[in-house]
Amino acid sequence: MRLPALLLASSLALAATGAGAATLDAAKARAAIDATTEKNWGELEALYKDFHQHPEVGFQEARTGRILADKLKALGFTVTEKVGKTGFVGLYKNGAGPVVLVRVEMDALPMEEKTGLAWASRAQTTSADGKTSFAMHACGHDVHMAWWLGTAQALLAMKDKWHGTLMFIGQPSEEIGEGARAMLDDGLFTRFPKPDYAFGAHVGAARAGDVEVKQGVATSNSDSIRVIFHGQGAHGSMPDKSIDPVVMGARFVNDVQSVISRQKDPQKFGVVTVGNFHAGTVANIIPDTAELGLSLRSFDAETRKLLIDGVTDTAKGVAIMSHAPAPEVIRRHGLPSVINDDALAASTYGVIAKAGLKGSVKLEPAYKPGWTASEDYSEFVLAGVPKSVFFSIGGSDPTLLDRLAAENKPVPVNHSPFFAPLAGPSIRTGIEVLTLAVLSVAGK
Ligand SMILES: [Zn+2]
Ligand SMILES: [Zn+2]
Repeated sequence: MRLPALLLASSLALAATGAGAATLDAAKARAAIDATTEKNWGELEALYKDFHQHPEVGFQEARTGRILADKLKALGFTVTEKVGKTGFVGLYKNGAGPVVLVRVEMDALPMEEKTGLAWASRAQTTSADGKTSFAMHACGHDVHMAWWLGTAQALLAMKDKWHGTLMFIGQPSEEIGEGARAMLDDGLFTRFPKPDYAFGAHVGAARAGDVEVKQGVATSNSDSIRVIFHGQGAHGSMPDKSIDPVVMGARFVNDVQSVISRQKDPQKFGVVTVGNFHAGTVANIIPDTAELGLSLRSFDAETRKLLIDGVTDTAKGVAIMSHAPAPEVIRRHGLPSVINDDALAASTYGVIAKAGLKGSVKLEPAYKPGWTASEDYSEFVLAGVPKSVFFSIGGSDPTLLDRLAAENKPVPVNHSPFFAPLAGPSIRTGIEVLTLAVLSVAGK
């Protein structure tokens, strides 16, 4: 199965618009990239561990952004800070040629780390509404920041091999899906050059160092919905005097899954997750409200609408059954799928596959389903970047994967308190993939 895909990709690579792809000696380029990475490895690993121990949640990435901006400045980039609150833009001009955007996201998550790593986070964070919680880089953005800097270092070390303008951006607040939008609203593509190409990558739970290049739909549509049930509070001993929002919420959590099991086409991807459910204070008070937070995922527009309508109808139906007022159903924001350019995915895959990486490199065609996670990287693509690819890079320790498979236990994935990608192979692979991708479009 792999060989025909490789041949197809190689021939497509020759035909692709990426000027560098056809002439690039991928293996030689990879060796040069690796040499720079090894020279800088101490700094890159220390940076990853430092970010891991000092996680900052969305729009609070002041320290993180400052460190990265300073590193870029030291490499010779012109850096503009505070683009989209805590975001920044670094530009490096190296003659005439394409503008290539390489994006990294900087935010962590409000959760307690349980990895047991020697450099595990014990940091705390306070949200805008005053709630304090632990913070953790549970999505691997710390790994991304290290590979993103390593990519800038590698490209600068071989600047006689490419031409054009590098646009290295540090994006805030990916997790709540607002950071990319904030940067665009702050003039990312009007105050700064509009990119001809864009690249990003995410670490996941696959075997460390394995690379997946997806054509077409890469990530899912994501929609956040808040449902507030309004009941009537009463003494815990007098349920007949109440309209119990806890019971409404509990019924809703169960019934809403029938949107997936009975309404959605089983051939199509769709997820409805109730991620939080808050109601009440103590055992003997029936509260008057219950509030639930939902995350909806889908690939196509039809399923996306069906899920949103189904959640809304279920909430209304549950309230009617309890003789309660109509619930509030609030859609916070929606994120569209990341869609990779088919030809650019094939040409970058062709280069990466020929470079001799340690892990496996796989091209997933457009007709295959994408990854179920979502990414606000899609906002950059939709804002008019003509050609873009978002890569997936494995981060899990192979020994751990084998042990968990033997024990029939689930693998810790992104957002798990146990998610701990292996820094060495994931960062090194990220640098190779992103640098080769830039060279494939900007190489001389
Ligand atoms: Zn995440
Ligand atoms: Zn992430």
